[in-house]
Amino acid sequence: SYSDGIPIAQTFAGQSLIRYLRWLAGGLKSEDLAVLANGGYLTFQQIDGVKDLYPDRLGTFLIRRNVGSGLDESLSALAIWKTSLERSRYPSDRDIKLAAELDVAIRALYKSVPDGAVVTSGEVAAAAISFMKRFVRVKSDQDRAAVNLLCEPLQRLTGSRATGTVEDMAGFLVDMLRHRRTNRSAALPGSIHIVPLEKSGYAGRKHVAAIGFDGQVFPGSSRSEPVLLDSERESLSSDLPTSVRDQKSRLAALTGVVARTTESITVTYSMLDPIFGRELDPATALDAMLEERGVRPTRHGLGAAIGFLTDSGAVLSQMHGREFGTYADSHFPWLSSGFHAGQERAQNPFSEYSGFVRGRTPELDIRSSDKVVSPSSLERLVRCPYLYFVRDVLKVRPPDKIDRRPGRWLSALEFGNLLHQLFFEFMTELAKRGERPDEAKHRALLQSMLDDKIVEWQDAVPSAGVVALERERFLLSQAIDVFLGSETRRSAEPYAFEAGFGESSDSTARLVLDDDVAFRLRGSIDRVDVGPEGFEIWDYKSGQSASFRADLNEDPLHLQWALYAYVWSDFLSDQSDRPVARSGYFFTSGAAFGERISSQPPDRSVLADRLRPLMEMTAAGAFPHLQVAKQDACAFCDYKNICGTECVKPKEMVPQEMFATHLPEGAEAVRKWAES
Ligand code: SF4
Repeated sequence: SYSDGIPIAQTFAGQSLIRYLRWLAGGLKSEDLAVLANGGYLTFQQIDGVKDLYPDRLGTFLIRRNVGSGLDESLSALAIWKTSLERSRYPSDRDIKLAAELDVAIRALYKSVPDGAVVTSGEVAAAAISFMKRFVRVKSDQDRAAVNLLCEPLQRLTGSRATGTVEDMAGFLVDMLRHRRTNRSAALPGSIHIVPLEKSGYAGRKHVAAIGFDGQVFPGSSRSEPVLLDSERESLSSDLPTSVRDQKSRLAALTGVVARTTESITVTYSMLDPIFGRELDPATALDAMLEERGVRPTRHGLGAAIGFLTDSGAVLSQMHGREFGTYADSHFPWLSSGFHAGQERAQNPFSEYSGFVRGRTPELDIRSSDKVVSPSSLERLVRCPYLYFVRDVLKVRPPDKIDRRPGRWLSALEFGNLLHQLFFEFMTELAKRGERPDEAKHRALLQSMLDDKIVEWQDAVPSAGVVALERERFLLSQAIDVFLGSETRRSAEPYAFEAGFGESSDSTARLVLDDDVAFRLRGSIDRVDVGPEGFEIWDYKSGQSASFRADLNEDPLHLQWALYAYVWSDFLSDQSDRPVARSGYFFTSGAAFGERISSQPPDRSVLADRLRPLMEMTAAGAFPHLQVAKQDACAFCDYKNICGTECVKPKEMVPQEMFATHLPEGAEAVRKWAES
């Protein structure tokens, strides 16, 4: 209980309202709204049509998309994002749902914003009440009391006709509300009662504590107030407060508290300034009291701060305390489970915490008839089974990361996607005309298609300024030069572009590599040509070729080229007598100089032998952090924050006995794979 109450600004409800009003006062800047959302001061639980939206997703969206201010800018950034999701080759359902819920939430929030640049204080008060009722998180009775206390004066103001800008009116409300206090109460049994020192009296309590007696703050400053000096106050009236009189009354209050206490009293002062890391001394008066009584101060760490800090603040305040586990458990059970899992993994790399599901998992078997995989998910399985488990089984997605590069307009992914679209449209256009790519003849056509594409993409990707745009245009032009030059000098005839398969159930290819290695695959082949020895399959790559081996048959990590060759032969080709002569990757960026890496696809049994143990592992529920490849796969893995330090190399798979005894289901499959 608090004799003087708590300043409204220190309650969740008060902080929400004050931040909301500051958002209005600042001209609806998205950065202020992001503070409101990311600070946990909002909830969308009462908004129809918003089910799973955490407020911080709104904050992240506003910051990442560089949204300026106001409803229109927010909605147009959202529309741009939605368009890019629609155009994406593999749109994520999660992102589509997130965009839809953000749309509803943003519109709902702006309904709690007064209309027009000039408004009455009554309109701002009404908007603030609507905000409080719809968006403020009420977690405790204290919050509820604060909401009521804040709504009461706002309600009285709703009839006010005082007029001004939204900024002025919102600023006025902040000033009016921020000094209000809530939860004033008499001392209650079973509660700690908090009283300002000057108002303390005899309480008859067993435990009394007086806090805040370091020399920097107690008994207060002896400097006169500059507006009316102490000497001037004295000459006006001996009853006016002066700095000296204030100091004396505080000293007397401390003496009084100590004298009135019949049991023991705990008097505290901060011993450390955490900002500057320096020791603090007790107030001189306290020091004298301690000396008089022969008491030596004892040092204690911070106690629990629950109730005043946010949940995360409270937990962090206990980070190094003995109670940390308890606080983390009660406030963040997932954090606590993660901590436990990390400890288990550190002790035993072959447990259910390390990707070994106890028991067989036929439902995860890639060979089962209702599973459809993509070449990239198979490559993840080859790269690191735990990576496949986290991404493709648990469906954990790394936080959205828009890879904005300094001085560049497009991210690496966007750069590649734009070129993919452009090359597809260009080659389709030439096919319609019955022409082959020709540098001299088609350079202008391709450049004008690129210019159109850039204009089209400017709607979808936020501008990064003229310099960045022109730099991107230069790099894209370089890429089309490389592409066209390479195409002109080739003798192979273009045959098919963007040949998709497996996106719908009737077009899914069940690829058979061997009797016991068959699976349903989906994907899209960028390009098929007809060369002198047969079909040539190409996948456009806008990055570098460093992670590929020159002979793809020797490359343990890349499978797509071979899988696409089999799919083309089995399902897409209309010329069964023409074999696939080679398959590979065409690096189209200027930096890669149009390099092509390709090989003749291996016999299916070779790939079947490589994949068989991995497929058996998916059926046996074994997805270890085990990487057979020589490269350090963790260094560039999106999940390295989870398990980047926990990778186990095959030779570290000891003690084998324990492994086999405790996990017989997966052990044999993993061993076969590791030894293969
Ligand atoms: S960080 Fe390493 S161990 Fe973890 S999923 Fe990625 S590759 Fe596997």
